[in-house]
Amino acid sequence: MSTTEQRVAVVTGGARGIGAATAVRLAAEGRAVAVIDLDEAACKDTVERITAAGGKALAVGCDVSDEAQVEAAVARIAEELGAPTILVNNAGVLRDNLLFKMSAGDWDTVMNVHLRGAFLMSRAVQKHMVDANFGRIVNLSSSSALGNRGQANYAAAKAGLQGFTKTLAKELGKFGVTANSVAPGFIVTEMTKATADRVGMDFEEFQTAAATQIPVQRVGRPEDIANAIAFFTGDAAGFVSGQVMYVAGGPLN
Ligand code: NAP
Repeated sequence: MSTTEQRVAVVTGGARGIGAATAVRLAAEGRAVAVIDLDEAACKDTVERITAAGGKALAVGCDVSDEAQVEAAVARIAEELGAPTILVNNAGVLRDNLLFKMSAGDWDTVMNVHLRGAFLMSRAVQKHMVDANFGRIVNLSSSSALGNRGQANYAAAKAGLQGFTKTLAKELGKFGVTANSVAPGFIVTEMTKATADRVGMDFEEFQTAAATQIPVQRVGRPEDIANAIAFFTGDAAGFVSGQVMYVAGGPLN
């Protein structure tokens, strides 16, 4: 590709939260952005924010855990926006419960969206990256990868994504493709609001309590994560691969 050609980025779970902030940020970096989410109509806000700022974006409805939908979505993106060479595997769900109450269905749902979804998306997009001899993959892990009460499924999936990331870095490096993982701490989104609701706390109070445990004394915003992702997906980050960056306002024990 010529240096003037616009790179195409794919952000899964881009309708809201960290995914929406990332899509907007990557568009500001000059990328054309495919915004994937379960419901195509739900991607409208993110796409409009990008186009209103003069950027290029496409809304794509796709369940990242469904092989046929992923293949069709990536083919459509390649056709309508161009070959994708940046992928952010961000789509995620929670199904928290203590182990003795966790259903097999809740285990499977979390594994399917986070792990199977990242696998299917990466496999579908990598051929375009290999053809271009350039690629950037970022997988969203979490501070929960280090273990978190009530999240046996989620912690296992997020730790699994770190191993997945390092393996992609080793397999794809010779094709100019890097793979890195960003592991957020507490970020204000619908996901953390759902956690506050589940434990019966007011969301504002939940954030205030969380901030006291964070060295920088505040909770994170989606833009904090988008900044880290923008670094890893940049042309200048070609020698940084297989890394896990915790973006959590401080070190984690
Ligand atoms: P969020 O606000 O809940 O957004 C997640 C998005 O992913 C939603 O739009 C959701 O769509 C979509 N999604 C869910 N399942 C999908 C599927 N199968 N296919 C396509 N899209 C799907 O979450 P967030 O807080 O922004 O989190 C983004 C990522 O960061 C997740 O991987 C999460 O685990 C990770 N993370 C978040 C935090 C945090 O504090 N917020 C901390 C660490 C890691 P629906 O609304 O239709 O379900």
